[in-house]
Amino acid sequence: MQPSLTSLPQTQAFLARQPKMLIDGAWQDAISGATMPVRNPATAEVLCRVPSAQEIDVDRAVAAARKAFDDSAWSRTRPRDRQNLLWRLSDLIERDAQLLAELECVNNGKSATIARVMDVQLCIDFLRYMAGWATKIEGSSVDVSMPQMPNAHFHSFIRREAVGVVGAIVAWNFPLLLACWKLGPALATGCTVVLKPADETPLSALKLAELMAEAGYPDGVLNVVTGSGAIAGAALSRHPGVDKLTFTGSTEVGKLIGKAAMDSMTRVTLELGGKSPTIVLEDADPRIAAAGAAAAIFFNQGQVCCAGSRLYVHRKHFDNVVGEIASIADGMKLGNGLDPNVEMGPLISEKQQQRVFGYIEQGRQLGAHVACGGAQFGPGYFVKPTVMVDVDQKGPLVQEEIFGPVLVAMPFDDIDDAIRMANDSRYGLGASIWTNNLSAAHRMVPKIKSGSVWVNCHSALDPAMPFGGFKLSGIGREMGAAAIDNYTELKSVIMNV
Ligand code: NAP
Ligand code: MG
Repeated sequence: MQPSLTSLPQTQAFLARQPKMLIDGAWQDAISGATMPVRNPATAEVLCRVPSAQEIDVDRAVAAARKAFDDSAWSRTRPRDRQNLLWRLSDLIERDAQLLAELECVNNGKSATIARVMDVQLCIDFLRYMAGWATKIEGSSVDVSMPQMPNAHFHSFIRREAVGVVGAIVAWNFPLLLACWKLGPALATGCTVVLKPADETPLSALKLAELMAEAGYPDGVLNVVTGSGAIAGAALSRHPGVDKLTFTGSTEVGKLIGKAAMDSMTRVTLELGGKSPTIVLEDADPRIAAAGAAAAIFFNQGQVCCAGSRLYVHRKHFDNVVGEIASIADGMKLGNGLDPNVEMGPLISEKQQQRVFGYIEQGRQLGAHVACGGAQFGPGYFVKPTVMVDVDQKGPLVQEEIFGPVLVAMPFDDIDDAIRMANDSRYGLGASIWTNNLSAAHRMVPKIKSGSVWVNCHSALDPAMPFGGFKLSGIGREMGAAAIDNYTELKSVIMNV
């Protein structure tokens, strides 16, 4: 029986009311009146229009965040209040989980069923973890010496204070989750936020803003500006009223934001691209490793910053593992993410689809072979899950981030070779090792140059574990205690008492 592809009436009602931006507690159009279309990548249909913010709208949003940080009741909230508000927000996300999952589905293309258990659940878990941090932010006291003041009696302590107004700019691959990774520590520490979602995927951020208002956050604590990166994103990243920038997106744009931040010494965290290796050792179970490697690349249509997009397999298992991944890929059901049986949706846009096909074609011309996939599927922006072999370690297929369901596979003969090839990348976000030899894994971990290393799993993220990149994959860490450090400043206080 064909499953129903109808979304909840609440989802349809949300789209029908043409959501606006939230600035200073009010739902607002852009001053210019400009709007931009929001599409469903599975059908290319326009779902609704949202305001297209210009610099003047970003100014209004930053001013609202500044006022809320400096003057409003928010600046006087106690840790317990911030904890309770975050917990209340996560309860509301849980209540509206299906609606949020459907918004991610129709706006991003991903499966609503998977978005419910992954994206939305990870948001709930993360915000609750961060709620716990609100009451555990500590400074310290220090005995100082100051020999030039021998008779003084000092009381010296170090305070950890909220950094201030946060400008958050995020990508389209996990719109709600990436926003929550910024909001959680910002709200736990007492910051205020101007959030700019990707132009492709503003909907779940706007729904999240509604839920924050319902949870009882004061006006101006969260402001959402919808608009293009080149205009609204650039205006936010160079805005003198912003104390900290936090960005998730491409390395290319991350560099622009990093440079803009340096001009004004704005604090900055950059979560950027990746080209993460999956390494299958000689002693691994080839079937388990193949299933893990397939999930590592094909989850979320390969649009995952830490996707296992380079596969290195011990030569003994190479044909077996590649054959097994190809058969998993060929068996995947592609289609509209509202269908609960669908395992892979479309890519985010025609531009992204064409970019991915461009890499596949370029690889073919350079001598690579397509072991499976490599073709379009249906209308919408689909790319069949693809595995390519006979690739060149130094070539673009292996060195550049494709950000789609394309795996490049290479054999290796000894572990040192595998480590060398795994590290031969400008990126360093994640890496997985598949093995039954834990001492080999332990010996490899310190040699892998990436922010996360997983053994017999991949893209395993937890709110308590810092996540971020080495090399061109970024600066700073999200999640864990590291996130709290990134949203606070230290203040040294010395009192002569
Ligand atoms: P992108 O083009 O870099 O866009 C990311 C965000 O930056 C969007 O909101 C975009 O706005 C905005 N932006 C674009 N140009 C800007 C500018 N000049 N100034 C300020 N903001 C600007 O990346 P994407 O294509 O959306 O996302 C894919 C990339 O994100 C991949 O490289 C992926 O690896 C990376 N990513 C990294 C992580 C991580 O945690 N490390 C997680 C997810 C994704 P518009 O969309 O409106 O242009
Ligand atoms: Mg975009």
